[in-house]
Amino acid sequence: HCALSLESVTYRYSSRQAAVNGLDLDLGPGILGLLGPNGAGKSTLMRMLATMTRPSAGRITWNGIDIAREPDALRTSLGYLPQDFGVYPALSAREFLGFLAAVKGLSGAKARDRVDACLSMVGLGDAADRRLGDFSGGMRQRVGIAQALLNDPALLIVDEPTVGLDPEERMRFRHLLTDLAGERLVILSTHIVSDVEASATSIAVMTTGELRFHGTPEQLIARA
Ligand code: ADP
Ligand code: ADP
Repeated sequence: HCALSLESVTYRYSSRQAAVNGLDLDLGPGILGLLGPNGAGKSTLMRMLATMTRPSAGRITWNGIDIAREPDALRTSLGYLPQDFGVYPALSAREFLGFLAAVKGLSGAKARDRVDACLSMVGLGDAADRRLGDFSGGMRQRVGIAQALLNDPALLIVDEPTVGLDPEERMRFRHLLTDLAGERLVILSTHIVSDVEASATSIAVMTTGELRFHGTPEQLIARA
């Protein structure tokens, strides 16, 4: 089950203009492309959805449960790839994910199987024992997706994952997210329209903290 609902969600870093201002959204399985220029409020919104920070006003519910009251209801089904995700260059992909699995409470054969499954899902099965320091930017981002998948999340939040990737890796990343969506809700923030116009189930456009549009890619193109 994955129903995410935002009701008048607002976030203020200080008393000046809200970074996120009165957002209403109802989301289910599929890919939401969250589109907007730098400073639009995308990361702030993503951090609230990932329960890293709480709204100043308004409500976020996950399957009907207010995540301000019960953050664990969402955290147990959450995978999050933050914008500033970093890897330990001296570790292999398998070692790094094994470490993160241990942090998440997975251990033993179960953890090893899950790590290998997640690396395969992102197309890094053959690179599992290579040093992360030798990985390309696109490969590192796929490691980021692999770690977000460790707990088989129903909600996958990825913040600007394609920054700095070349067009081929961006395309590969799009296909990966499409494969992963299925019964999950994937929320992908980006300022690059082509990251989402073909693959997103719906697109939300934000500027200066406000939601300007939410609809299908076709509806967005028809408006342009
Ligand atoms: P985006 O991810 O779309 O680039 P952000 O959520 O990072 O947007 O930023 C939205 C607004 O909030 C911007 O005006 C930004 O300057 C401001 N902002 C972001 N982080 C902070 C912070 N830690 N303290 C104060 N203002 C912030
Ligand atoms: P945490 O509990 O995440 O380490 P805090 O000390 O800020 O961080 O948490 C204070 C209380 O608020 C705790 O009960 C925590 O579960 C809850 N909480 C923390 N972040 C959120 C959030 N984004 N949404 C709702 N509740 C939260």
